[in-house]
Amino acid sequence: MTRLFTDRIDGAEGLVLTLSPADSHYVVSVLRMRPGEELTVVDSERNEALCEVSVPDQKACQLKITKMGKNDTESPLRITLYQSVSKGERMDLTIQKAVELGVSSVVPVFSERCVVRPEKDERKKSAKNERWQKIALEAARQSGRGIVPEVRESMSFEDAVREAAKAHDLALIPWEEEKGETLKNILDEAGDVRDIAVFIGPEGGFSSEEAELARSSGLKSVTLGRRILRTETAGPAVLAMLLYRFEL
Ligand code: SAH
Repeated sequence: MTRLFTDRIDGAEGLVLTLSPADSHYVVSVLRMRPGEELTVVDSERNEALCEVSVPDQKACQLKITKMGKNDTESPLRITLYQSVSKGERMDLTIQKAVELGVSSVVPVFSERCVVRPEKDERKKSAKNERWQKIALEAARQSGRGIVPEVRESMSFEDAVREAAKAHDLALIPWEEEKGETLKNILDEAGDVRDIAVFIGPEGGFSSEEAELARSSGLKSVTLGRRILRTETAGPAVLAMLLYRFEL
C-alpha cells in the first residue's frame, strides 16, 4: 500500500488530512490515485493513519482518516551503517537493502581505498546526497518503515571512527583480515546494547592502518566468515545478522 511520511498527523479517525504540495503531486499526479483509494501516512512520532483519498487535488490533496494506530515495524535496535563510498550502483544498492533491513541511518565514509573521491563541488555533492536520500525514502515506503532513515553528509574515515567510538554502545568493523573474533562473541560479551555502529570498507577493503586506528579507538573488528563479501553485500549481511539476533 502507498505510504507517505509526514512531520505530524494532525487529526483523528473520521477527520480530514491535507497533504503537502509535494505529497499531493506524488499521490495525484504521479500515482494517479482516485477518491476512495487507500494509503497510509506515518508521522515522525510514528503515529500511523490509514486513509482514503477524498479530494484528489494536485496541490492540496485531502484524505479522510479511517483508522489511527501506532507504527510497529521499527527495530528495537538503532543501527548506523558507516559505509565506505562505493561506485554508483553499489552504493545505491547498499542504501536500498540497508533500509529494508532496518538501518536507522547511513553515513557515507571516505576511506583510503575508496575508488570514488569526495566531491569538491558543493552542488554536485548535495545532488548526490539527495539522490541517496531519495533511494532511502523509496525503500522506506516500500518496506513499510516507520521512519525514513537519514543518509547523512559524508565524512572522512578518521572523523567517522572518532564519532562512532563515542556515539554508540558498540561499534563494529568487519575486517577481512580478522580471523579470530566473531560477531556472535562480541555481541555475547557486549550484553545489553541498544545502539550499534557498523563500518564497511570499500571495494578494496580497509588498510591495516585503518583497522589499527579503528581498534585502538575502541571499535571491535570481526570476521564475517570464510568468504569475502563484496562491499554491497557486507553491510546488508551484517544487518540481517543483527535482525536475526535482536528481532526474530
Ligand atoms: N579487500 C577485499 C575486499 C573488501 S570487501 C578483497 O578484495 O580481498 C569490502 C568490505 O566488506 C570489507 O572492507 C569488510 O568491511 C567487509 N567484508 C567483506 N567480507 C568480509 C569478511 N569475510 N570478514 C569481514 N569483513 C568482510
